[in-house]
Amino acid sequence: MSTPSRTNLFGMSLAKMEMLMAEFGEKPFRAKQLFQWVYQKEIYDFTRMSSFNKPLRDKLQAGCEIVLPEVVKEQRDPDDGTRKFLVKLHDGNLIEMVLIPVHGRSALCMSSQVGCTIGCKFCATGLLGFKRNLTTGEMLGQLVLARRLAGEIGVANIVLMGMGEPLLNLQNVIHMIETASSELGISISARKFTISTVGLVKQLRELTKYKLKSGMALSLHAPIQQLRERLVPSAKANPLAELIPACRDYIAQAGDRVTLEYIMIAGITDTMECAKALADLTRKLPCKVNLIAYNPIFDDQGTPLAPIKETKPRAGHSRPVSKHGVDFSGNPASGKGGKLKPFTPLDFKAPTMEAIDRFREYLYPRCPAVTFRKAKGLKIAAACGQLVGQSERS
Ligand code: SAH
Ligand code: SF4
Repeated sequence: MSTPSRTNLFGMSLAKMEMLMAEFGEKPFRAKQLFQWVYQKEIYDFTRMSSFNKPLRDKLQAGCEIVLPEVVKEQRDPDDGTRKFLVKLHDGNLIEMVLIPVHGRSALCMSSQVGCTIGCKFCATGLLGFKRNLTTGEMLGQLVLARRLAGEIGVANIVLMGMGEPLLNLQNVIHMIETASSELGISISARKFTISTVGLVKQLRELTKYKLKSGMALSLHAPIQQLRERLVPSAKANPLAELIPACRDYIAQAGDRVTLEYIMIAGITDTMECAKALADLTRKLPCKVNLIAYNPIFDDQGTPLAPIKETKPRAGHSRPVSKHGVDFSGNPASGKGGKLKPFTPLDFKAPTMEAIDRFREYLYPRCPAVTFRKAKGLKIAAACGQLVGQSERS
């Protein structure tokens, strides 16, 4: 349990530890030692930090603590071995992380925020609303916990594809990757991380300046601007015409290809019109395409399997309106897009295998690389945000 009066060292950068040691009247090399105790040796008890003398250990004990988030629930999908964890933060907020078996090792799917402000129509996290950004320590904590939980097989890759939009928590995400990749610490290369984003041009341009070598996944979902605007509330302010060049610039400095995440929703994004538009789009940037079958978050009656955050309807509106100006049905709240057929929860269905095959067969010769990800962890409601949704209800 964290104590508000003490400084939590977990998540602290080396530079901050140097400042702390300077306050204690110690030389900078002590900060390096502390960094190694915390991140490399995973020693959280100051009395066991044997390279420090007693007065320094006492000072650390009096003013500091090392606290990680805590796993409070685990669910395992018996079919594919996916393990989903509910993680409690020091203030009681809950987030999710998922360990996915991949070729005998694990990939960690980590959260970057409690909830999400974007509110995509198909996403359980989007329906939960937004509480706060995760700290650097809360993200690093997921990595350390996951490594322990994975045991011998270890964590080979980390994707920021859990709850939240990483680019809206940019500074902490960058600090987390820098701290994790330090050779004095966990020493996981920045290349092992993939930042998954809904596509925010300004933040993507900002990230590019840091010359981070991490991978990039763009949650594209729809290759046609008008359709994308109906599924992804931030799409209007971040048009494909600006987003694709921003991705290209990021990925050029990282020396990689961007992964285009593409949710296949029956009758909405699995059409041949979309396949053609997607094939055209892939010619504009070095990429691979990951097709994902929509993992239902509504039951057959259109009731969310996770709760929808209450939002106050605007005057004259009978439906809830999110702060991104999009009502729950998918209509732009401004009324300008009234010609578009609104999406309702009942419109979202998983695609058929035939539709996936047709889509994939069209794409494959035209795109450099196409993979299809079967919804993982179906038996444990592993669509992003669903486990927290269930816990908040029970
Ligand atoms: N905010 C970031 C990262 C978190 S979402 C982003 O949007 O990329 C991670 C991924 O989960 C996204 O690609 C998102 O589209 C996908 N996802 C969300 N809800 C889903 C669902 N119901 N079925 C399948 N994938 C889903
Ligand atoms: Fe947020 Fe990503 Fe879910 Fe959209 S898909 S609501 S951006 S977490």
